[in-house]
Amino acid sequence: MPQHTDQYIGGAWRPALTADSLPVLDPATEQVLATVPAGGPADVDAAVRAARAAARGWGATTPEQRLAPLTRLRDGLAAAQEEIATTVVAELGCPIGFATAVQAGLPLAVADSYLGILAGYGFQERTGNSTVFAEPVGVVAAITPWNYPLHQIVAKVVPALAAGCTVVLKPAEDTPLVARLFARLVHEAGFPAGVFNLVTGLGPVAGAALAGHPDVDLVSFTGSTAVGRTVAETAGRGIKRVALELGGKSANVVLPGADLARAVNVNVGNVFANSGQTCSAWTRLLVHQDQYEEAVAIAAKAAAKYVPGDPADPATRVGPVVSAAQRERVRGHIRGALAEGARLVAGGPEAPEGLDTGFYVRPTVLADVTPGMAAAQEEIFGPVLSILGYRDEEHALEIANGTRYGLAGGVWAADEDTAVAFARRMDTGQVDINGGRFNPLAPFGGWKGSGLGRELGRHGLEEFLQPKSLQF
Ligand code: NAD
Repeated sequence: MPQHTDQYIGGAWRPALTADSLPVLDPATEQVLATVPAGGPADVDAAVRAARAAARGWGATTPEQRLAPLTRLRDGLAAAQEEIATTVVAELGCPIGFATAVQAGLPLAVADSYLGILAGYGFQERTGNSTVFAEPVGVVAAITPWNYPLHQIVAKVVPALAAGCTVVLKPAEDTPLVARLFARLVHEAGFPAGVFNLVTGLGPVAGAALAGHPDVDLVSFTGSTAVGRTVAETAGRGIKRVALELGGKSANVVLPGADLARAVNVNVGNVFANSGQTCSAWTRLLVHQDQYEEAVAIAAKAAAKYVPGDPADPATRVGPVVSAAQRERVRGHIRGALAEGARLVAGGPEAPEGLDTGFYVRPTVLADVTPGMAAAQEEIFGPVLSILGYRDEEHALEIANGTRYGLAGGVWAADEDTAVAFARRMDTGQVDINGGRFNPLAPFGGWKGSGLGRELGRHGLEEFLQPKSLQF
């Protein structure tokens, strides 16, 4: 079992300044896969100092000069696809099929998209008697979660480096191995020392030290709303910029006349993918009351195809959730929903048959969920779908908009115009129309309690830029 004792700081792997370590568990077997350093404030400080020392030089490079190592990084991600997928299977328990297509494939697509955006971006424009330069923000603290561990790293680090910023990354404690793999690829791509730095460690220790470090200019955080609030408060005290990608409770609204079977089947797949650990997952399915029982029956039938199993087996569609704590949280939510009067259509709070080892949860469908129930308001972050009925379009909109979140959503209708008109009234950052596919070029981010700022596309690059006007 590898026992890593180093952090990537200032262009080299250096002994950690804290002796403490963290175990990395395989969620399918509960075995320890490796240990990594539990970094403390001294490690964070060394990393921020390295990033600061590199900031002026890297910030003064041309886009073309930055494109060269970023292209090598992109090629490194392409060459390492299999290693990335198997690493995410091991430390997240994500099924190998999804890990290959999404956990490894998506970061590559995002890196690709930023090469194109960087090549075409105008870092300088004339307006009246001024020239406005888009300047890098400086030193970026990137704090990421475990559910799409490499995607979330790439969605912050690549545009930050493309903008001319330097970065200190603090990845989630549950999935540090793919972060170490990424650091190796950055190293092999030949960026100047200090441009990218990695500190593994616990959130309240290393994460808090990084978010509060006086020499960080921008904190880009993806994670829970509770921690996001703390990070924003700390950043506010230091007058630092902050970008937050937080939780969600997205509604998928099936309007009368839509293809109900397709909408429900796609929704079940959407919510069980990655064991429901997707911030933008459609965890609330909204169907018209006249079609309610039909929708419940379709969902029950679809859910039966999702049998939890070994994530390394290509036939597995649902693996475990990430940790024992997460498993208990999700099961507690299911028990709570049943106590509140929800009807169990599939799954349940017990361990799946024959899977006493591993952090498994039964893929669960709940019917008779009403808008005020916790199952319709709280982010469960597990394979749990709540089905709600609505009377008419206005009622559907009221339910869809009636949570503190506003990250994503779906609308299904007989024609696109009807779907678009409804989607425009949803208080959310993105909506898929009739099952529209994810697009890495489109801005991704939340309204209301789901966050501040945007990732991906041109908007994602601009998070890491600040204007400077010169008057003539
Ligand atoms: P989390 O908030 O517990 O942790 C996220 C990161 O923050 C981790 O690296 C953690 O170590 C760090 N952290 C924890 N406490 C900290 C502190 N006090 N100061 C600074 N950093 C700290 O979230 P999680 O459980 O890892 O991830 C799940 C959450 O992330 C869900 O709520 C999910 O919706 C959200 N999420 C949002 C998006 C999005 O794009 N909107 C994407 C993925 C996940």
